[in-house]
Amino acid sequence: MPHAVTPPPQTRARAFDTLARGQFDVVVIGGGINGAAIARDAAMRGLRVALVERDDFASGTSSRSSRLIHGGLRYLEHGYFHLVFESSRERRLLLALAPHLVRPLAFTWPVYRGARVPRWKLAAGLLLYDVLSMFRNVARHRVLGRAKTIAREPSLAADGLRGGAVYYDAATDDTRLTLVNALGAESAGATVMNHAPVRAISTRQDGLHVEVEDRLTGRRTTVHARVVVNATGPWTDSVNRMAGQDAPSAVRGTKGAHIAVPRERIGNRDALTILSPLDGRVMFVLPAGINAIIGTTDTPTMSPPDEVRASEADVAYLLASANAFFPGARLQRRDVVSAWAGVRPLIAAGYGTAATSASREHALSWTDSGMVSITGGKLTAYRAIAAEVVDAVEARLAREVSACETDRIPLPGGDITSIRDAVNDARRLTDDEDVAARLVGAYGSGWGYVWIRCQREPALAERVSPELPYIMAEVSHAVEHERACALADVLVRRMHIAYETRDNGRTAARRIAPLVGSLLGWDDAETRRQLEDYDAEAARLFAVDPVDR
Ligand code: FAD
Repeated sequence: MPHAVTPPPQTRARAFDTLARGQFDVVVIGGGINGAAIARDAAMRGLRVALVERDDFASGTSSRSSRLIHGGLRYLEHGYFHLVFESSRERRLLLALAPHLVRPLAFTWPVYRGARVPRWKLAAGLLLYDVLSMFRNVARHRVLGRAKTIAREPSLAADGLRGGAVYYDAATDDTRLTLVNALGAESAGATVMNHAPVRAISTRQDGLHVEVEDRLTGRRTTVHARVVVNATGPWTDSVNRMAGQDAPSAVRGTKGAHIAVPRERIGNRDALTILSPLDGRVMFVLPAGINAIIGTTDTPTMSPPDEVRASEADVAYLLASANAFFPGARLQRRDVVSAWAGVRPLIAAGYGTAATSASREHALSWTDSGMVSITGGKLTAYRAIAAEVVDAVEARLAREVSACETDRIPLPGGDITSIRDAVNDARRLTDDEDVAARLVGAYGSGWGYVWIRCQREPALAERVSPELPYIMAEVSHAVEHERACALADVLVRRMHIAYETRDNGRTAARRIAPLVGSLLGWDDAETRRQLEDYDAEAARLFAVDPVDR
């Protein structure tokens, strides 16, 4: 059985003490994909790094994405070829460096009579897509006739169907991708803390002082940094204000909502790209275990990022769009298993003009005191963005810019030669095909390290929820090795149970609470309080607003 035994993580208390004592080259604020990756890259280059996250790793936008590592087919319509080229390169790298978390995904794009993108245009675009990936995508696209389109996706509406195409991108687990970057930063020497909000930033003669709170104990400390990276996505403006920056808004938020419905209702085999009949926008229907995810919307929002949720109008739009393509599904409101939304932290107009670099997708902006804010970007490009930020940080520190190694060193769990062989090994031991796929898919080469817990304690091999392939051993692993401190850390981010159950993980929370409590020293009163917190968090993330806010 393969083992990838990672060194036990620093305890929270030790991390907090290190923050208090340490002199850091760089303090990264925000443990979304960008902050986690910047911390990992900087630590791998030998910088003294701290990463502090207000809530949990990936608790912001990085857990609300469509979970795609994509070449950016949509950019072709606007002529952003360099973005497609860069995204394709990143997709190729991530498929190799984290093959457990970034997996090839075939998309069928059906074309109907009168479609905004006719077949010839789709074929030309997909050819260009393959060219820009230098024909090194998983496989080349294929143009399909009507019969072959129906054969691939038999539940599609047949009326008006002209044909279509199949092309390839990659699917990921956005929260775990973020988590392995944060844990990888720690392995490379960074001091990493979740549930640790930054409360104030001040400039002194000896550099920047960042006040950090340990939310679990209420203790506060001041961290000294030569450079601060503001990687707080939709919260960029509020952290800029903490640092006394009254500059124009850096972020322009648009809301993107998704819904999950039982996959058997839609009957999709793979992923589909569809053009919503309501407004012609590109949408996806994505396989997600027993569910299919339909997304996304794109509407301007002024809601505070913590308060962004799907609305009834979002749900109706997504259901109507999917029903147009899958009329047999007759999806209704009651079919919705869960609904959620996130804010795309897009660059506000006029921002980033004085930046060290700016593209349509992301921008860096420095203050005189040594804080750099990173705005925009997308999950797919995170590694390249992190490399660019760390190059700029090293230049600011008057260090020679050193070689970035994240393009060749696998992410934790990614040092695996064959996913298929690992799943076969896992199946033999677990005697459960779905659990085997989950273990290898989530932990890569470290799957045996999770499973071995069940040999010591057989009850840990039990499923958390009977219909889903997550096991109790993952819960104790999450607490002991993945920095989970709350029930939502486990059920929303280390696993996706909250997205995949109609009660958004409330039953599962009651099932895992005794185990989590025993590991974290909760008494009965604390366990009750944690369950109340879970229920409140599930409502904050998954309740559907009656009207758009
Ligand atoms: P975030 O993930 O939001 O991280 C910022 C972090 O900062 C948060 O965790 C927050 O808690 C923390 N923070 C805030 N204030 C403080 C403080 N005071 N102290 C400490 N920490 C703080 N991209 C793709 O490539 N593929 C996709 O399929 C895709 N789909 C998307 C679908 C939707 C609906 C949306 C909204 C986005 C999608 N994206 C996708 C884009 C991608 O998800 C984002 O670009 C990316 O997740 C942004 O990451 P981030 O690290 O900048 O921000």
